Amino acid sequence: MTNFRFLLFILGAAFIFLSCSEGEKDRLNFEEQGREVPEFNADSAYHFIERQLDFGPRNPNSKGHQQAKRYFLNTLEQYAGARYVYSQDFTAKGYNGDTLALSNIIASFNPQSSDRIMLCAHWDTRPRADKDSANQDKPILGADDGGSGVGILLEFARLFEEQPPPIGVDIVLFDGEDYGKEGDLSKYFLGSRHWAKNPPVEGYSPRFSILLDMVGGQNAQFPKEGYSMQFAPALVNEVWSIADEEGFDELFIQQMGSKISDDHVVINRILGIPTIDIIRHNPSSNNSQFAPYWHTHNDNLSIISKKTLDGVGKTLLELIYNRISVSD
Ligand SMILES: [Zn+2]
Repeated sequence: MTNFRFLLFILGAAFIFLSCSEGEKDRLNFEEQGREVPEFNADSAYHFIERQLDFGPRNPNSKGHQQAKRYFLNTLEQYAGARYVYSQDFTAKGYNGDTLALSNIIASFNPQSSDRIMLCAHWDTRPRADKDSANQDKPILGADDGGSGVGILLEFARLFEEQPPPIGVDIVLFDGEDYGKEGDLSKYFLGSRHWAKNPPVEGYSPRFSILLDMVGGQNAQFPKEGYSMQFAPALVNEVWSIADEEGFDELFIQQMGSKISDDHVVINRILGIPTIDIIRHNPSSNNSQFAPYWHTHNDNLSIISKKTLDGVGKTLLELIYNRISVSD
């Protein structure tokens, strides 16, 4: 990685973008463009989840965390080119006086384009299993909570290399999302907060951003998450309408969900980038909010569904390749 050259390049791109200043109103307008959309491969996305789980739990300061970081950097460098992959390393205070060594991992595709979008997920996994009946103090594997979003984004990276997207795309893998103890929001979203307060690119201004969290479980349902509807309703409605057209209406359900604190709230509030969260949760408050395996040791490979991965992957590729009008 030559981080310095990467930064110089992106700074240049951001400057060009600011000087062109495309109309704000066009940035969340979508229509069919008649472009070819690459085929999402759910087996490959599944494989990218499996590989992460091979490292064990990826909670901060663990061996699995270190190994997974190296794996993400190597994999993304293979697809984006080493010049366009960047590890934003930082530390944060953990519990019991621990210092956490954390890294946000960023990869840029179609880097010459000043007109960009952003896709993100958290790559860390939870250091405890608060919702389990046993071994609550042990870290979880996080197949869905962490692994699935990253798995889909790595599959996108593979496809972006094969068939470059019509717009610039930045993949950002946030660290330290799921570190906090229940009820202590100050120790959640460590990576997205650091990234938003110290953007690697001054004035970074993608058209929009999409966060993927718990997007690979069996029987998943994605209601329209509340903060996403508050900050970027046009984008939510476009994604859900594509899913409906593609036959994934049982996955992306036409119901309002609840407001969920996640990395997208940080990005919306600190940087004002319209960001939505595709996140599995139950629309009705009568049930428990999340999947039965959430924050337990059952969040392992056995609950991952290729059908769910396929629905999310195909919907988003249609958006990225075929619904965004690009002027040049
Ligand atoms: Zn979680």
